[in-house]
Amino acid sequence: MKPMPLIFAATCDFAGKVRGKAFPAEQLDKRLARGVGWVPTNVMINCFDGIGESPFGSLGDLLLVPDPSTETKIGFDGAAPEHFMLGDIVTLDGDPWDLCTRALLKSALARLHRAGGVRLISAFEHEFQLKGAPAINNQGFGREGFELQRDLCATLMAALQSSGIAPDSIMKEYGPNQYEVVVGPAEGVTSADHAVILRELTRSAARAKGEHATFSPILDAASVGNGVHVHMSFVDEDGNPVTYDADGKCGMSALTSAFSAGILKYLPSIVALTAPSVVSYERLTPHRWSAAYNNLGYRDREASLRVCPVTAKDPASIARQFNIEYRAADAAACPHLALAAIVHAGVQGIEDGLVAPDPTQEDLSLLSPDVLAERGYERLPTSLEAALGKFINNKTVTNWFPQDFSQVYFAHKAAEIAHVGDLETQDICDLYAQTY
Ligand code: GLU
Ligand code: MG
Repeated sequence: MKPMPLIFAATCDFAGKVRGKAFPAEQLDKRLARGVGWVPTNVMINCFDGIGESPFGSLGDLLLVPDPSTETKIGFDGAAPEHFMLGDIVTLDGDPWDLCTRALLKSALARLHRAGGVRLISAFEHEFQLKGAPAINNQGFGREGFELQRDLCATLMAALQSSGIAPDSIMKEYGPNQYEVVVGPAEGVTSADHAVILRELTRSAARAKGEHATFSPILDAASVGNGVHVHMSFVDEDGNPVTYDADGKCGMSALTSAFSAGILKYLPSIVALTAPSVVSYERLTPHRWSAAYNNLGYRDREASLRVCPVTAKDPASIARQFNIEYRAADAAACPHLALAAIVHAGVQGIEDGLVAPDPTQEDLSLLSPDVLAERGYERLPTSLEAALGKFINNKTVTNWFPQDFSQVYFAHKAAEIAHVGDLETQDICDLYAQTY
């Protein structure tokens, strides 16, 4: 019998997982209008498939409406094509649901537009590892390490391109069996959509090649982490870049400076959304080029927020290339939720007229908490529990989101923490390697 073509309508949820339902492809027109049924309590399904205490119980109905602009259709090695669309969760009346991650990002971007008159351009850079022992060791950025997975890398890059995601580069990263994939920037909600699609295509491409790709933030606390670095820039109403000013601090325009200052000020309270797993905090430690303090770096990878170098020489190209990079994120986070938190923090900086501090140039881990505080720096939370506390107790931050969001998110994450319990660090790493 010929298999029926199916399309999977999906959402990337609080757990950073892609969940949804499939329908016959011939029903597409109907489903674009009316979606598939969805349930409020699904938002409480955590990354281990536990269900946290739900304020909704068995009550309520929602619709998950696929957005055709996210359509992804890829056949790996002769298998039936994988065909999915990301969508928006709406009420039965068709209004955005308060806890839909795409809606949360759209509302943060609208606030940015109101406050700064600009639109966000961003790109998510991903690191991942293949499970199991590498066939060749000591291959940090190695050609042979790359060659081992050339087929997977080439398949993934082709899959990205045919999904409308511009492949930039792919490499054997420093860690054992670690790879990094970089794609071009996109505007607004699209870059977060691309990040979700990239993770799914990476996992599928790896499976097709007999490998298992994991984006878990860290597989071994003694080794490297897998980061998600978010590059951001701004354009005005006419599409002109407004991130750069040759006379600004580190080349930042006044808008970029205020946005950066907002991120740095609220960083300790938003990492619960950008690095949202128990194991994330094994990665957010000093000296691993991730992020351990709320500091700005000028071309410095040991900073949470980095002003990136540009390779262009003429002023117009410099202005277009110039971007800042948020490094305190990982793939346990839903890209939409992470970006929403980063944008809200930045907009708070714009609304409050904040000014970016000087970049740090020293090893902050050598400074005492008092000296750090004197200079306006803070060690980022060292556990998910502490990060959630910083989030829930910061009223400025919780007020960025719809009324129920913070309590529901807190309860979701509390169940995840309870699931992990008091496991040893390596067991926690192993547990998360199975889920991301
Ligand atoms: N692996 C590092 C992280 O966890 C990043 C290394 C790099 O700068 O690419 O974020
Ligand atoms: Mg890297």
